[in-house]
Amino acid sequence: MADAFDVVVIGGGPAGYPAAIRAAQNGLSAACIDEWKNRDGTFAFGGTCLNAGCIPSKALLESTELYHRVREELPTHGIRVSDISIDVATLQKRKAGIVRKMTDGVAALFKAAGVTGIQGHGRLLLDKRIEVSAPDGSRRDLLAKNVVLASGSAPIELKSAPFDHQRILDSWDALELASAPKRLGVIGAGAIGLELGSVWRRLGSEVVILEALPDFLATCDQQLAREALRHLKRQGLDIRLGATVTGAKVAGDTVAVAYRDAKGEQTLTVDQLVVAVGRRPYSRELLSSGTGVELDERGFIKVDEHCRTAVPGIYAIGDCVRGPMLAHKGKEEGVMVADLIAGRFGEVNYKAVPSVIYTAPEIASVGATEEQVKASGRPYKVGVVPFLANGRARALEAAQGFAKLIAARDDDEILGVHIVGPFAGELIAEAVLALEYAASSEDLQRTMHAHPTLSEAVHEAALAADKRSIDAINR
Ligand code: FAD
Ligand code: AMP
Repeated sequence: MADAFDVVVIGGGPAGYPAAIRAAQNGLSAACIDEWKNRDGTFAFGGTCLNAGCIPSKALLESTELYHRVREELPTHGIRVSDISIDVATLQKRKAGIVRKMTDGVAALFKAAGVTGIQGHGRLLLDKRIEVSAPDGSRRDLLAKNVVLASGSAPIELKSAPFDHQRILDSWDALELASAPKRLGVIGAGAIGLELGSVWRRLGSEVVILEALPDFLATCDQQLAREALRHLKRQGLDIRLGATVTGAKVAGDTVAVAYRDAKGEQTLTVDQLVVAVGRRPYSRELLSSGTGVELDERGFIKVDEHCRTAVPGIYAIGDCVRGPMLAHKGKEEGVMVADLIAGRFGEVNYKAVPSVIYTAPEIASVGATEEQVKASGRPYKVGVVPFLANGRARALEAAQGFAKLIAARDDDEILGVHIVGPFAGELIAEAVLALEYAASSEDLQRTMHAHPTLSEAVHEAALAADKRSIDAINR
């Protein structure tokens, strides 16, 4: 007889594994099936995020930023060091160690919570039966009262620049390089392209980033985007906007990239090329015919605001459904569906999904951009406070960028917060909480912030929205 579970989750990434853990916390029997295979052939839970995304990229960003700061900043502190060098093999080993600890951690969490972790490919059959194909080729079926699909996403491949994984790379390849290429091309100036470009730029590569859109970070607050672009260009990232890649050909040890910009057809020769033009939902061999689960025209599994598919008891979460492709968005969806299945309250506030780009300075946002608020017609006010006015940022030698807060003129509700500056990704948490609680700018103004901390910039931005900043000039 097939093993039966209250909840079977297909996919053990940052959307799937929290769903399984929360289901078990709710007293339900839960299994999580995953088929991830690392480059060395080993299996690990954690999906793209832990194995080939968020975690390894942040490990490399940290090492390379430290290297950059040691070289560029230490003399400013009066610290003299000589013979500074970086060993990429050690840096990669550190990264691999962090990834392994995190993925082993998921297996340990499963064990502690009582989740049955299963290695293999999961395929939804009819009547909530799931076929599991193990790596050794054996098959078995599971029966589920509820199914959660969390199959994630995969890099988009350009027909004009197909991956060969040697010269034309996807984001995972770009995290695994053994040395810095002399010339690195990146297609796409989104979060992934900018982070990977930053890593290899700091290790000495000449980095050219080609972005089709004429505006930098087109969906971000444009004041924030302009400030970020200034800093990134100053670090030597050659970011070319309005540059659409039309072809890439490997020729020996180089890649000839053809692109079109306002001046016409252009060419660029690089040693390696990273294609970072976004990700697509992944659902290969996930659904047998007749399940009733539908995909939209772009391949996302169709769900409502509670991640319910059209079939009762079948849910889908994370990158394989609509919404921003972010680990924390998937995690909250996973927790929500596990709570709904257990008959508890569950909801995701899609208006308060923070987004962070881990460049230096970091770029972090939550809520509406100034462009969106303006277009809505609702009267608004804006407070912008530069980190130059923040003592902690000065002491950190990181007084770059600003915190910006947008609030409604009618009822003072905070509508959006946009930060480019040191630890912006940490600072945005306060703004997310403010949006979650529908706080007013006055609520933030009257909240005491420790001194001297970077968080004072957010406090002062709230004050500046009413021209009552103390530490910055009100404009
Ligand atoms: P995934 O993490 O893709 O996990 C899906 C899992 O399901 C995989 O393990 C896959 O093997 C498995 N699977 C699929 N189909 C089946 C099947 N039929 N049977 C069994 N198993 C299956 N997001 C952030 O929020 N912050 C960041 O800093 C960040 N940095 C990133 C950096 C890079 C380089 C990349 C590539 C992505 C980054 N992301 C970041 C995005 C983040 O990784 C994704 O949003 C997140 O991983 C999505 O989680 P998920 O669980 O939906 O899917
Ligand atoms: P994101 O979806 O945020 O990861 O960003 C991917 C970026 O790649 C977007 O800003 C796209 O405009 C950009 N892009 C997509 N196709 C091309 C192309 N052919 N040439 C240059 N940039 C591209």
